[in-house]
Amino acid sequence: MTIRRCIQADITTLNVDAIVNAANSSLLGGGGVDGAIHRAAGPRLIEECRLLGGCPTGDARITGGYDLPARHVIHAVGPIWHGGTRDEAKLLASCYQRSLEIAVENNIKSIAFPCISTGVYGYPNQAAAEIAIAAVNDFLKSESSLEVVIFCCFLDKDFLIYQKLLDQR
Ligand code: ADP
Repeated sequence: MTIRRCIQADITTLNVDAIVNAANSSLLGGGGVDGAIHRAAGPRLIEECRLLGGCPTGDARITGGYDLPARHVIHAVGPIWHGGTRDEAKLLASCYQRSLEIAVENNIKSIAFPCISTGVYGYPNQAAAEIAIAAVNDFLKSESSLEVVIFCCFLDKDFLIYQKLLDQR
């Protein structure tokens, strides 16, 4: 049975097989968690990302973790929130699903997600958390090779939302 839990931490410090990045479609770095991951991984990460040629919204790509404690980074491209009329929910769920599929393909046993799209991309926090947990639960119904899925919250408000949704208090 896969353990699902939320923690409050800087995702770049986590000693897991893979951390997920909330990337943009260029995969060439940005602010927020993306900037933090690139700073902590060192310049070899952007070199590998350049070779990937971008990634569509709702999909993900895997690279090495370089100077991170994590062995891999899975770069998922979340949707920009436009009010909910542009398939944002479907695209956000797809980020989680595709990241997990790629994790399984690469024999990853432990993975940590940030709150994709809820920063600069403006996705409402509660709705994003509900989608993230539902997408992970859905995936785990038919896949048992993962040992642990961590929802890594950075902000107090996200940690409170996830604790409540996962009944972890
Ligand atoms: P997006 O463009 O997908 O909205 P952001 O990086 O702006 O991406 O925000 C996504 C989430 O990552 C936000 O909840 C933000 O608080 C969080 N975040 C920022 N830095 C870190 C970090 N070092 N570790 C984990 N989460 C982080």
